[in-house]
Amino acid sequence: MNLKFFADRMLGRLAKKLRILGFDTLYFSDIPKNEIFRLCKKEDRILLTRDKQIAKRAWKEKVAFFFLKSDKWYSQLKAVKDRFNISLEDCLLFSRCSECNGFLEHIDKEKIKNKIPEYVYLTNNEFLMCPKCGKVYWRGTHTENIMNDLNKILRGSNDESRT
Ligand SMILES: [Zn+2]
Repeated sequence: MNLKFFADRMLGRLAKKLRILGFDTLYFSDIPKNEIFRLCKKEDRILLTRDKQIAKRAWKEKVAFFFLKSDKWYSQLKAVKDRFNISLEDCLLFSRCSECNGFLEHIDKEKIKNKIPEYVYLTNNEFLMCPKCGKVYWRGTHTENIMNDLNKILRGSNDESRT
């Protein structure tokens, strides 16, 4: 599945979750409207928006868009999942930086020793780094909690995916 998104400025939390799921998602807290439409057209992105004016203009300019009603990221993600038939199998989890959309790369832990807490260094062997912004990722309770949330949304509301 090769869905690419552009999340408008009201959808920062949703954008992060889509990136964690592996979807190429642009998000800027401040960007001129013309630029939004230009990028969506140029890069064939689906515009996700909660702004009726932006949705109207997307319609006029023939930019693919999806209007979100909820102001909660949880419901927004569920709506996106339903609209585009996304399942967990379509996702490349933790392949993108949630902060900047960069593609994460495996990195030797010796190289990032100074960037991470000592106990993390001692207890983990697998690290990913964003080549764009330098953020380092590793598995931990934080990522497990995110995964549990995302699992619940993508699989429906039952709890059987919790392992
Ligand atoms: Zn990054």
